[in-house]
Amino acid sequence: MFEEATPEERKIYYNEEWNAKELPDFIVDSIEQREFGFDYDGSGPSDRYNQIFSVGELERVLRNRYPYAVYSSVAYYKKPRKREGWIKAELVFDIDAKDLPVKSCGCGKGMVCEKCLEEAKEYVFLISEALRDDFGIKKGDIRYIYSGRGYHIRVFDPELMLLSREERGKLVDYVACNKVPEVLNLSFGYPKLFRERFLIFLKYALPEDLKIKGVGKQRIEEILKKKRIIANEVEEGDFSTLRKILKSKFQDFLRHVVNINAESLDAKVTVDTKRILRLPSSLHSKVSMKCVEIKNLERFSPLKHAVPKFVEERER
Ligand SMILES: [Zn+2]
Repeated sequence: MFEEATPEERKIYYNEEWNAKELPDFIVDSIEQREFGFDYDGSGPSDRYNQIFSVGELERVLRNRYPYAVYSSVAYYKKPRKREGWIKAELVFDIDAKDLPVKSCGCGKGMVCEKCLEEAKEYVFLISEALRDDFGIKKGDIRYIYSGRGYHIRVFDPELMLLSREERGKLVDYVACNKVPEVLNLSFGYPKLFRERFLIFLKYALPEDLKIKGVGKQRIEEILKKKRIIANEVEEGDFSTLRKILKSKFQDFLRHVVNINAESLDAKVTVDTKRILRLPSSLHSKVSMKCVEIKNLERFSPLKHAVPKFVEERER
């Protein structure tokens, strides 16, 4: 599992398993307006500025060249081959399990396992809830992709698709909770989102994640011991137990959590209105997993729904 695919395996994947039906409608419907990027050997998508006019044409490229990775732009262009005539771009959030700031699996930065892939999903739920509740985005305008090592949230709200880089930056600050709210106990909006993120942090943080200047081992142990109580309180907007333990270090601690949270989302991806993203249905060759659109987020399991057949054969 999670081993790199050989060229032979890529060839098998694109010629025997890949199916145009697994391309999301949002790609099919706008295929000729997007820029496509190909990586043939694992060195990065060096072949860019491609325009593809039909699913059939894409299929031919995939079957003949079985690339290492395939990408398409989040932007729609009048002239994708020149990356000119920008019309609009999906709003995208990238949650990569390999970069999660806190993970209880301990599998290390740059690595993923079943556990942290599941933990990454919690951020996906949280962000999608904020997009719906706080920004009024329709459920149908939010689509979920398993990227092979994490998740992409792709938003198709017509107004948000026109946002500039700066505006997207502000949105990502909000969604990633890059600021301690002035009021902590509001039952809606930003303070609520902040507390929910705080709870994820608390749930998965290892003792070393809780370390801040001026707070000794004893107090960290106390936080861990009272984790359940603290979590129940925070859910209701009450930080009193945590405040009692941390005393004058309470605000520092919240800022520390904010800094850690900021890493859970790759902001560079969200603000880049010309970004290319891994194409759903394509192979993530580095880890031999399929990048797939997720129809049911609750029930989605990477190991059930994104393992290509050649990997199953391999393990027989
Ligand atoms: Zn892990």
